[in-house]
Amino acid sequence: MRTILLAGLALAASVATAAQPEVKVAKWKGDVKACFLLAFDDGCPSQLQNAIPVLNKYKIPGTFYLFPEGGHFSWQKDKWAKAAESEYIFLGNHTISHKGVNAPEEFEPQVTKCAEVLKAMQPQLTWPRLVSFAIPGGVPWKISKEEVKSVLDRHHHVERPIYHGPPFFCGKTEEVLKLIDTTIAKGGMEHVDFHGVGGDWLAAPTDYLEAICKKLDASRKDVWAAAAEQHDKYVAERDAAKIVKVAGNKMRVTFEVTIPGLDAKIYDQPLTVVVPAEGWKTAKVTVGKAKPVTVEVTDNKVLVDTLAGPVKVEKVK
Ligand SMILES: [Zn+2]
Repeated sequence: MRTILLAGLALAASVATAAQPEVKVAKWKGDVKACFLLAFDDGCPSQLQNAIPVLNKYKIPGTFYLFPEGGHFSWQKDKWAKAAESEYIFLGNHTISHKGVNAPEEFEPQVTKCAEVLKAMQPQLTWPRLVSFAIPGGVPWKISKEEVKSVLDRHHHVERPIYHGPPFFCGKTEEVLKLIDTTIAKGGMEHVDFHGVGGDWLAAPTDYLEAICKKLDASRKDVWAAAAEQHDKYVAERDAAKIVKVAGNKMRVTFEVTIPGLDAKIYDQPLTVVVPAEGWKTAKVTVGKAKPVTVEVTDNKVLVDTLAGPVKVEKVK
């Protein structure tokens, strides 16, 4: 009797589960396997000359960490502002002077002064916004990790992963191409960080960058090439997101995405939501109050790019 009752409950539970479609947020944008970031430090002139044309050619994003006081910045400022008009070129904060921090109180102005310059250079963007931050290397750094984080948090900055790039790491083209393959196989995030490209200091050849971009472009179904800030926003939103009010049947699925605890003005990177669509060929997707769009269905699922809000996915055929 007891066994029969339990079996009955189990059956009821599985029926209830089957009735509610399994809608989930994808680990990475586009429901691909991995994420890959390209970063460029110090505002080397060769980056403007050689790296940016390659990124634009292959439509691969890159983040360029500038320090406005010193280096080559003053005579290249207008070129950087112009370059940042491209949707693939992102500017990051590398402190105002790249001279390091000898006491914790020196840190905040190093961040805010650089942030002000980046903001003034990019009036086309919405501010405040999330900005990626890179600690300058080879200079004194007398401040704790916690102190760094609390200042960065206050100013909507996120520290990028520790420098990893040529000539110290993945110096050869075949090594870096293999890194992309292993990143896809592992399903995580990896990055390659540059200084000079085809010139300047610690330089990698332009061909090396071109080989990376070519591979990332050819591997879009497996890997999301992102700017650091896009990655940081996606991860924070994904980890906070909840899918609620899920309902549906064989013809339609509705749900709502909520992203509690994050400021929607700053965290504005759409999440990819995976919606089951067994046997569907075409679907109509309505995100919030936007006009519905018709999409082809592949692999029995519909991918919906959305921020917080209601979503409706309907079978067309
Ligand atoms: Zn640097």
